[in-house]
Amino acid sequence: MPQTVKPVVISDLSGYRFKNGGPVCCVEKAFSLIVSGADVLDALVAGVNIPELDPEETGIGYGGLPNADGVVQLDSCCMHGPTRRAGAVAAIEGIRTPSLVAKAVLEQTDHHLLCGKGAQDFARNLGFPIEVDLNTAKSRGLWLEWKRRVDAQHYLDPARKDRAGYEIALQMMWEGLIPEGSFWGTISCHGIGPNGAMAGMTSTSGTAWKIPGRAGDSPVIGAGVYVDNGVGSAGSTGRGEANLYALTSFFIVECMRRGMHPKDAGLEGLRRIKANTVESRLLNSRGEPAFNIRFFVLNARGQYAGLSMYASGETAFAVCTENGAEMQPLEPLLPGSPGD
Ligand code: ASP
Repeated sequence: MPQTVKPVVISDLSGYRFKNGGPVCCVEKAFSLIVSGADVLDALVAGVNIPELDPEETGIGYGGLPNADGVVQLDSCCMHGPTRRAGAVAAIEGIRTPSLVAKAVLEQTDHHLLCGKGAQDFARNLGFPIEVDLNTAKSRGLWLEWKRRVDAQHYLDPARKDRAGYEIALQMMWEGLIPEGSFWGTISCHGIGPNGAMAGMTSTSGTAWKIPGRAGDSPVIGAGVYVDNGVGSAGSTGRGEANLYALTSFFIVECMRRGMHPKDAGLEGLRRIKANTVESRLLNSRGEPAFNIRFFVLNARGQYAGLSMYASGETAFAVCTENGAEMQPLEPLLPGSPGD
């Protein structure tokens, strides 16, 4: 591991776009704390709290798009490179900042992942206020629109209902009602400090209108995020199930361990997901994945990259260095868009 590194924080675009009414975005906040000597994970969590609390952001924390029953259920995971520890929560309700609960799991338990009611009870016992409903008028309105479009007949056949709900959600996305970054909306944030300490974290409301209780890749170590201090940090946004089946963040870090640059390691991860995608319902007319997925990759030398399966949709990611926060282009594996 190099002795000194230029600090950097990267994330998906939500870490640049949302400021919760304040002056700074996630990557700026985390970067400023890292350079003023804060622990790298504390800094990332403080950054991630900004989009989590922003009511305009509909894929993360408060006001995230709810599950099929209209309930906001949140997932989050964090990994701290220097101590080689991680903590996570899945399907937690009533807490705007699941990242803080994930960090408490890391710091105050012998466990890695707490789920559902148990995660909420754990948080309540630590003094987190529990809210009855994390919907905003915006997230509730979009759920009502989805519900209106899903005909009651779909309750007759679980398989048909699932498929119809997914197609209606995709249609709402193509109509521009739901930004792609909200249907699959997550913050994936990674940082390195001047002493080489690395951390990575995720926070998400998961896939919009998901089956209640569903946990995606975001709270699962090795899938949503993985950090090996001295090697690198990787994490994702997009179709979580595709990532889970390949444990891609772990795979990408292992590629970096073998000497790959973050960009090549991330592209290798996307190739693995593409090769794993064989079900016809998940393939487009070209026989390629009918979904997008992105990776944010940082190595122990402070080199980084943002990669996506397709060149369409969100085309940039967030970076903060000593030059300030900026958007940089995502490197796509495939041309076109998932729906082509
Ligand atoms: N990966 C997340 C999940 O599947 C969603 C997302 O990143 O948008 O829950």
